[in-house]
Amino acid sequence: MKRDIPALLEKSIDGLHLELLHLLAHQSTAVQMPMYLVGGVVRDIFLGKAINDFDLVVEGDTSALAEFIVKKYGGKIMVHSRFGTAKWVLNESAFKRLNFPISHFPEFDVSFDLVTARSETYSQPGALPNVEPSNIDADLRRRDFSINAMALRLDSQHFGELLDPTGGEADLRSGLIRALHPVSFIDDPTRMYRAIRYGARYGFQISEDTLALIPEARSLVGGLSAQRIRHELELTLEEENAASMLEWLNELDLLKPIHPHLTFDESASARLANLDKFRDLQRISPWNIDRWDGTRHVLGWLLWLMPLSHQQIGALNLRLQFTADLLGSLFATSWIFADLSKFASLKPSQCVERLGPYSLDAIEAVYFAARDEKTRDVFFKYLAEWRHVKPHFTGDDLKERGLEPGPKIGKILRRLRAAWLDGEIISREQESNLLNELL
Ligand code: ATP
Ligand code: MG
Repeated sequence: MKRDIPALLEKSIDGLHLELLHLLAHQSTAVQMPMYLVGGVVRDIFLGKAINDFDLVVEGDTSALAEFIVKKYGGKIMVHSRFGTAKWVLNESAFKRLNFPISHFPEFDVSFDLVTARSETYSQPGALPNVEPSNIDADLRRRDFSINAMALRLDSQHFGELLDPTGGEADLRSGLIRALHPVSFIDDPTRMYRAIRYGARYGFQISEDTLALIPEARSLVGGLSAQRIRHELELTLEEENAASMLEWLNELDLLKPIHPHLTFDESASARLANLDKFRDLQRISPWNIDRWDGTRHVLGWLLWLMPLSHQQIGALNLRLQFTADLLGSLFATSWIFADLSKFASLKPSQCVERLGPYSLDAIEAVYFAARDEKTRDVFFKYLAEWRHVKPHFTGDDLKERGLEPGPKIGKILRRLRAAWLDGEIISREQESNLLNELL
């Protein structure tokens, strides 16, 4: 069955982007540089998904084309000649210059990534490849999987032509993730993690031939830099069904080769299932957890690794080099999680004392993971109320009453706060009486 490409483009790409793509195609036709939409974009167009990233490959000198484009249409262009890449960015004034009707102005700048077609060779497994300018065919054949190795031509009378040298369309129809050649995972072991990500995201199988490439490449995972392998795992943790992806990675024995402390069992799966629920919590929770937006992987790491001991986290950090903030939160979740059963019997002031030093990220993560109702209630109250409770008197007030600056002031303020938290006092007058007693 032949696909109706113009109809598919209209379904996945909004009118504004489509119009701009036509302008780009027009200009590439004029300078006779074939231009293509490539990779994941084509895959997602065929799957009927909305497109947000526009990856374009040009056969020819991208920076020269970029110059023509800006001269003719305006906007800004950022060129990296060394990598043969250029980004065309349009803001409101660019749209005005193009005389786009006012209703068209998007809220954000619009951009397109242009890359010169290139081939890649690998001198060493897991290292970055040597890159050379080339044609579209070579550019498609250097990619990870057949479903990501298709191109749609945009210029000239070739508009809408599909290039599919590795059978991506057929694999997309039968739901198969297939590597392009037998040393694909040896060249780049991160592709094994990408395979599982696409497989679980789209509900696809990994082809038998491709699965058979894993054993030989598994031992090369140890040679990947901290930055590269952490990035792969973070992309995974950003996904809707991160839990099933990690489960799959574990089944294929792709977690332990990263580090022996990276395991995945049913309880980890149950904790990570909260990643998908936390958006609902966000709506009903009275405190602000919008800050998880775009950093879902931080919550993912915390939910995944909270049962690890302090030492284990330290060891894992040597391999993965977490950011300082994340590392602090990982230690914190580990401490809190190890003591979790104790919280339900603590007084509010004791909870505040224990949780006070830890990051909100860590405390929220444990709240998402806790199963026991009483414990959940304690964490909920801490997050929603207790952490905000403060006495009316301040350090300045105490100084005015003749107290020397020093630790004593802090101690009295903590005592007043505890009295509020534990319901010993419920009015300003009572706070004042208690202060007099303490003084
Ligand atoms: P996503 O929806 O996750 O962004 P994507 O297919 O767009 O998926 P990107 O990581 O954005 O993936 O990369 C864009 C394209 O670049 C891929 O579709 C693939 O063709 C190619 N690519 C990316 N990473 C690799 C890799 N490690 N090896 C080979 N080709 C790759
Ligand atoms: Mg992408």
